[in-house]
Amino acid sequence: VFANIAKAPEDPILGVTVAYNKDSSPIKLNLGVGAYRTEEGKPLVLNVVRRAEQLLVNDPSRVKEYLPITGLADFNKLSAKLIFGADSPAIQENRVATVQCLSGTGSLRVGAEFLAKHYHQNSIYIPQPTWGNHPKVFTMAGLSPKYYRYYDPETRGLNFQGLLEDLSSAPSGAIVLLHACAHNPTGVDPTVEQWEQIRQLIRSKGLLPFFDSAYQGFASGSLDADAQSVRIFVADGGECLAAQSYAKNMGLYGERVGALSIVCRTADVASRVESQLKLVIRPMYSNPPIHGASIVATILKDRDMYNEWTIELKAMADRIISMRQQLFDALRDRGTPGDWSHIIKQIGMFTFTGLNTEQVAFMTKEYHIYMTSDGRISMAGLSSRTVPHLADAIHAAVTR
Ligand code: PMP
Repeated sequence: VFANIAKAPEDPILGVTVAYNKDSSPIKLNLGVGAYRTEEGKPLVLNVVRRAEQLLVNDPSRVKEYLPITGLADFNKLSAKLIFGADSPAIQENRVATVQCLSGTGSLRVGAEFLAKHYHQNSIYIPQPTWGNHPKVFTMAGLSPKYYRYYDPETRGLNFQGLLEDLSSAPSGAIVLLHACAHNPTGVDPTVEQWEQIRQLIRSKGLLPFFDSAYQGFASGSLDADAQSVRIFVADGGECLAAQSYAKNMGLYGERVGALSIVCRTADVASRVESQLKLVIRPMYSNPPIHGASIVATILKDRDMYNEWTIELKAMADRIISMRQQLFDALRDRGTPGDWSHIIKQIGMFTFTGLNTEQVAFMTKEYHIYMTSDGRISMAGLSSRTVPHLADAIHAAVTR
């Protein structure tokens, strides 16, 4: 019965790793997927995560019972505090419904399913470009993605005017997907002043902001600074949604830990929203896994472990920032034509190099360097040892 099924293409991002794994060259380099690597090119488990896991393993009261549909209660409270700030009025007034979900992707999907069922508008405006999975997640949930201008290839910066124009002409009530920080793939974020203008426009048009926060702490090294965009919106008392992921900032990729929060106008509304979120979640996967959320809750509620986490997080962010400088210097030393200052201006895990599909293909074929075809490279996959190889490849690609 399945004989006529067509073979589906590889995922544009995860497929890069598939191609990389097939390459037997000793100099191959995977800059595709956004996963942190050490200077030695190895995946990293944070010390504080190991410590939390030890505590969990040695605690005989820990069992493997099902969590509630909404997940681990402590985890949900602490996650809301982390993104909105401990003194957020929305939290103090009990106006936030938070549910534990399957990392960032699962949080986006549960939020989208909820909106498709309970919100009057199904248009969701997403930035052009955006993380490749966004349009798929929203479409599968029954929302209808539209693009707003975001990136200006000329300046390799924000197309702020285009963004304002496109959101101004969005229909009233439309949902707007915003990257909380470290925009993927461009590494270009609005300034605080620009966020304030975006907020005013969104509120004046009655649009509904949906934040995707996959990199809190990873952009600047500061958890508070990277949540500022979200907090600017929550401070005005209006509604918003936020999807959080602990994949990058705690290195819990495969544990699939995340949270969806819906900020409401009153505690009563939030409690009804939560009751409906349960109806969304139950038929999808019943309830979320316990282990990763327990790690996060253990770290977030202990002052000492929390501090240790912020230090390790800052070290990851700083290593990425130093890779930006090293790559920029290496291109300058080679006299590579073009202005490469965007490499040090962009923030977060990725550099949107400006290299075109052909140049990317050339670098893969001749230099065994793997990246997405839009020219996005994961800075976290680079090290001092591999920067010269990448710089040689970029130089060759742009001068050939
Ligand atoms: N949103 C953005 C912008 C991302 O870059 C990612 C991860 N690449 C995610 C969401 C989701 O990641 P995860 O499901 O692994 O938390």
